[in-house]
Amino acid sequence: MKIDGDVGITFDDVLLKPRRSRVSSRKEVSTSTFFTRNIRLNIPIVSSPMDTVTEHSMAITIARLGGIGVIHRFISIDKQVDEVNKVKRAENIVINDPYKIGKYATVKDVRKVFEDKGVSGLLVVDDGERLIGIVTSRDILFQPDDRPVTEIMTPREKLIVAHQGIDLEEAKKLLWEYRIEKLPIVDDEWHINGLITAADIIKKIQYPEAARDKKGRLLVAAAVGIKGDYMKRAERLYEAEVDALVIDIAHGHMDRALETIKELKNSFGDDVDVIGGNIATYEGAKDIIKYGSDAVRVGIGPGSTCTTRIVAGVGVPQLTAIIEAYRAAREYNIPVIADGGIRNPGDIVKALAAGASTVMIGRLFAGTDESPGPVILRNGKRYKMFRGMASFVARLGKELRMSNIDEGDIGEYSYSTEGVEAFIEYRGSVEDVVKRLVAGLRAGMSYLGAFDIEELRLNAEFIRITDASVKESYPHDILLW
Ligand code: IMP
Repeated sequence: MKIDGDVGITFDDVLLKPRRSRVSSRKEVSTSTFFTRNIRLNIPIVSSPMDTVTEHSMAITIARLGGIGVIHRFISIDKQVDEVNKVKRAENIVINDPYKIGKYATVKDVRKVFEDKGVSGLLVVDDGERLIGIVTSRDILFQPDDRPVTEIMTPREKLIVAHQGIDLEEAKKLLWEYRIEKLPIVDDEWHINGLITAADIIKKIQYPEAARDKKGRLLVAAAVGIKGDYMKRAERLYEAEVDALVIDIAHGHMDRALETIKELKNSFGDDVDVIGGNIATYEGAKDIIKYGSDAVRVGIGPGSTCTTRIVAGVGVPQLTAIIEAYRAAREYNIPVIADGGIRNPGDIVKALAAGASTVMIGRLFAGTDESPGPVILRNGKRYKMFRGMASFVARLGKELRMSNIDEGDIGEYSYSTEGVEAFIEYRGSVEDVVKRLVAGLRAGMSYLGAFDIEELRLNAEFIRITDASVKESYPHDILLW
C-alpha cells in the first residue's frame, strides 16, 4: 500500500491569476486546437458519447460551431452508422452519392426514405441508374400513398442540371437564376455524379467556423466498446468515413482496452484516429499513447452523473488528472481531452490552462433541442432526461436491445451501477450554450494575455483557494433576480 501525499485538486480548488495582457479585444484570440493527433477544431469543445447527449443532431450543431460530437454506442451498429452518415451528409457542397429512388416507387416509399434518411428530396432513376426526375417534400404533400413517383416528380425535361467540375460560384448562379433548391450533376448519359443543394451552401456561409474534413464535410467521431461485436462496429464506422473512433470505457488503463487501441490502429492505419481512455494518471496516459492512441481522454469520476468514486472509491480529482495526463502527453505531442465535470465556462479555461486541448461535455449539452429524447412537462416546467451510461436504466436498455440478458437477470443490474438517471431543465438550442462557453473562454484568455490556447497554458499560474474564496467567487450577499 502506498499513499500519495499530494492533495488532488479540481476546478473549484483554484483560480487563474490575471496578468499583463497585450490582448485588447476578445475577438483577437484564437480558439483553434487539436482534438486528436490529426484532427484540428476551431473551438475546444466535444460532446459526450451518451445516449441522452450525442446523436446526429447534436454532432451537426457542435461541428458547425467548430467542435466535434461523439456519437454514442448504445444503439445498433446500423443505427450508429446511420447517425454518422447523417452528419457527413448534413452539409456538403457536393454530395457525391446522393440518395436515389427507383422509378417504380410510390409516394409511400418516398415518404419512408425521407423519414429514414432525414432528407427532403430524392433523385429518381431508371433501371440503368440514369436520372429521370427529382421528387421533393413539396411534391408529395396531400398525395395518396399509392401514387407512382413518376406522376408527381419534376421530370428530366424540366430539370436544371450541371456537369462535373462546376465551381461554387457557377452553382450559386444557377440555383439563383432558376430559383431552384437542388442541382444534380450528371454526365452526358444522365448518370448521376453528385448533387449540389442550396441549403448546404447557405449553411456553409452561415457557419464559417465549422469543423470540416478534407472533403468539406462536417467532422464526427463515434464510440466503440471492447467486447462482443466492437470490431464489426468499428469497421462499419470506418467505412462510413468517421473521423475518429473513441474507445468508450470506464477504465481505459486495462490490458484489454490497451490491446483494442492496437487492434484498431493495426486495422485502419492512419485513416482514422483512435482515442483510448478513460484514464486519470500519468501512467495511464503514457500506456494508451504507447499502444497508439491519438489523444488522451482523461476523467475517472468527475462526470455529473457519475458515482464511480462513491461506489468504487476510485478516481482522481479532475484538474490533477489533467495535469498528470498532460505531463505524459506532451512528451509525445498528443492532445488531452478533459472529460467530465465542466459546470461553467471558467472550468474550460482552467482545464485548458492545465494542459487539455479540448473539453468533453455531457450535462451542459443535455436538455437542449439537439440532445436525443422528448421534452417532458413536470410540475409546469420543461425537462429532458439525462443519464449516466453506467446507470441502471442505460445499461439495462443496452443489454435488452442487444438481447444479451434474460428478464430474470434484471435485478442483477441494479447492484453494479456507476451512474445515475436525472431530469435536466430544458434549455433551448445548444448553440446558445456553446456560444456562452466560448465567450467565457475568450474572456479567460484575454485576462491571461493569451492569443491562443498554447499561450494560455504557458501563461497560466494557478492559485489554490479556500472554501471562503469559493463563496466569494459566486454572486453573494445580494437578492438575485
Ligand atoms: P458531464 O459533462 O459532467 O456530464 O460529464 C460527462 C462525462 O461523464 C462523459 O463524457 C463520460 O465520461 C462520463 N460518464 C457518462 N456516464 C457515466 C456514468 O454512468 N458513470 C460515470 N461516468 C459517466
